[in-house]
Amino acid sequence: MNLFDTVENLKGIGPKTAEILKKAGISTIRDFFYNLPKTYENFSAPSTIAEMEPGKVVIKGRITALVTRHARRRRLTITEGIIRDDTGFVKAVWFNQSYRVKQFVPEKEYYFTGNFELKNGRFCLMSPSAAEVDDVDTHSGLSPVYVAHGRIKSSDFKRLANNSRNLFAEIPDFLPTVKSGTRKNALFSAHFPESEKNVKEARDYLAYEELFELILAAKLNKSENDKLRSVKIPFNQEKIQEFVKNLPFTLTGAQKKAAWEIIKDMEKETPMNRLLQGDVGSGKTMVAAMAAYEAILGGAQVALLAPTAILATQHYENLSKTLAPYGVKVALLTGATKGKTALKSDIREGKIDFVVGTHALLTDDTEFKALGLAVIDEQHRFGVEQRQKLLLKSPSGLAPHLLAMTATPIPRSLQLTVFGDLDVSILNELPKGRQPIKTEILTEVETKASLYPKIQEVISAGQQVYWVCKAIDDDPRTETTSVKSRSEKLRGIFPNARVEYLHGRMKPAEKDEIMEKFALGEIQVLVSTTVIEVGVDVPNATLMAIEDAENYGLAQLHQLRGRVGRGSKASFCYLLTSGDNRPSRRLVELENSNDGFYLAEVDLKLRGPGEIYGALQHGALDLRIATLSDTKLIHRAQVDVADFLKNPENMLKYKELMAGIARYQQITTLN
Ligand code: ADP
Ligand code: MG
Repeated sequence: MNLFDTVENLKGIGPKTAEILKKAGISTIRDFFYNLPKTYENFSAPSTIAEMEPGKVVIKGRITALVTRHARRRRLTITEGIIRDDTGFVKAVWFNQSYRVKQFVPEKEYYFTGNFELKNGRFCLMSPSAAEVDDVDTHSGLSPVYVAHGRIKSSDFKRLANNSRNLFAEIPDFLPTVKSGTRKNALFSAHFPESEKNVKEARDYLAYEELFELILAAKLNKSENDKLRSVKIPFNQEKIQEFVKNLPFTLTGAQKKAAWEIIKDMEKETPMNRLLQGDVGSGKTMVAAMAAYEAILGGAQVALLAPTAILATQHYENLSKTLAPYGVKVALLTGATKGKTALKSDIREGKIDFVVGTHALLTDDTEFKALGLAVIDEQHRFGVEQRQKLLLKSPSGLAPHLLAMTATPIPRSLQLTVFGDLDVSILNELPKGRQPIKTEILTEVETKASLYPKIQEVISAGQQVYWVCKAIDDDPRTETTSVKSRSEKLRGIFPNARVEYLHGRMKPAEKDEIMEKFALGEIQVLVSTTVIEVGVDVPNATLMAIEDAENYGLAQLHQLRGRVGRGSKASFCYLLTSGDNRPSRRLVELENSNDGFYLAEVDLKLRGPGEIYGALQHGALDLRIATLSDTKLIHRAQVDVADFLKNPENMLKYKELMAGIARYQQITTLN
């Protein structure tokens, strides 16, 4: 048996089944073995029908008289049947599972498990799951449940696994021998469990295996990065001190420390690979400005990549204001930039020191003379390919230093594994004089009664307001209010204020105009979609209302909220909810905390890493089994990976492992 042969080599899998499996991502024998049950039904100790008590029950019997009918409410089908054993009978009921009619053979015996409860005046077995008695391991009573794919149901997966039962013994080793077992045993137990304990051991082994791959990938990235060479930037102490002295504010301790770490990194011959994590408003841009100035003093060019044109424009304006007095030539490059050809040739000839831009920076014809530092703002907004494109823009064969910035902190548990060897600087301190943002969840009634007067108060004090809506246009099918109709309504309520709207589909020039007027204080209320989510910095804006707040994730809400509280004035964030449901855990956590690091941990718990980082990193971090809160396993894997790497021959010996971690290397890298 070769693990990398196609599933068609397995007994019972023909071309048609193979086709369906392939679509589900199960192409090879290896994929098939690793297609683990999502859960297990426990059919041990069934009761007789006569002895059933209300609640969860397991029974063993035959089923007949299966019928499906449509309920009066359209789109609901009800399937029923009668289950019998020697002691009596009970009605089974399923909703919207009409396939059940064909699932059962009248002569065969099945286990059923479900809730035995009162339904329309009669006790029934509700939505029972079922397994053929012959398929269930008799002494454990455990029956694996697989995710169905197309017409291949859980029971088919069970049958197919059974067909190949003998092959499991041939599964070769994958990792060096470990205390917790072997792969063949773990995979066998996962598909043919003998006990609950056995399932847990299998799960632990497979989770360990996964963590081992992840951690090994992170370590290898580190050593690959160390093989690259980059321009050494000598520390220009005098100039940097002068720059700091002339700033309109004093740097926070955290900013100084981060800048120092960056300066030290750039002095080295190996490229910097540093993540600057700082909560919203902690002043990351200034740290980037210092890094850029330092690199430019050392004769290098700098590029800063931002995810939206609004943000790139804002950075461009701030950075040129900050750096132009020192003779630094800053340019903006977005999709809307006029005279791109001329600008690009200036960049190529080294006439521009610092290019700030969006994805437009990444096109092949943007070439640098000596790119020495790449800064990526809101790095989690970019995919691996995009980041790599930027880093390849250094023509000299030298790799640029990389500074990635994010306000979505990577929780510590993830940092330990996925980003194990990343250099991280943390801005855990807000500039002096900031007041915590007061956050409050408001119902519809409260919105009218207390929010409108509050907004009026803020406007009268000469401050500004963001109002966030989900939709750009009205849609009669949903009840969400669009930015357009919301701004109409607010104009009616606040006739003395200038209310404008902003969204991603507006022309770049229009967006710039609105943002500029808002920054200048000419607009009092800005009704906007989430285009303002990242980076926008208008310290005079002190109130934000987020409509339909339940629609957003925790990290996103925290980012949005970070648009206020950026000056010394007291700021407020209102999370508007409609409907009568109690607010979600997300909103309550947000109401109670301003701490982005804490909220990131909560988010990780609520959604899991696949959701947070997976989507952003092209769906790659979908751990099958391991959870990143499994600190004991993580620790063990770390120790074992270190051992593994001590012997370079291992890399040749464990070919399957080395081939498999390529995919993890992509996600565990910044560059
Ligand atoms: P973020 O970390 O969210 O990107 P910014 O870099 O946009 O934050 O900075 C937020 C605001 O704080 C900006 O207006 C910036 O000028 C200001 N700022 C940065 N550092 C300091 C400081 N040390 N003291 C006072 N204000 C600062
Ligand atoms: Mg920022």
